[in-house]
Amino acid sequence: MPKDPMTKVTYDAPIGSIDLMAFRSDGSSYEFRACSECLPWHAEVVIDPRDDTVMVREWHAVGCSFFQELLAQDDDLDDEDE
Ligand SMILES: [Zn+2]
Repeated sequence: MPKDPMTKVTYDAPIGSIDLMAFRSDGSSYEFRACSECLPWHAEVVIDPRDDTVMVREWHAVGCSFFQELLAQDDDLDDEDE
């Protein structure tokens, strides 16, 4: 029996992605570290075709709590319409 059902989502869990800015507004880079909440985590670098912005696409297990946090923050940013 698992001690904690929230500990480490398995490698074959369903995954979802979120696009994050690769650079801060001053041009310095963000660090991306492997997610401590889920095992399927990986990231890829993508170009937003709308404005050629370099983005980092992070993949997490759909049930990852950190992923859900990122999605909530993303919604907040969208509300500001920037
Ligand atoms: Zn994760």
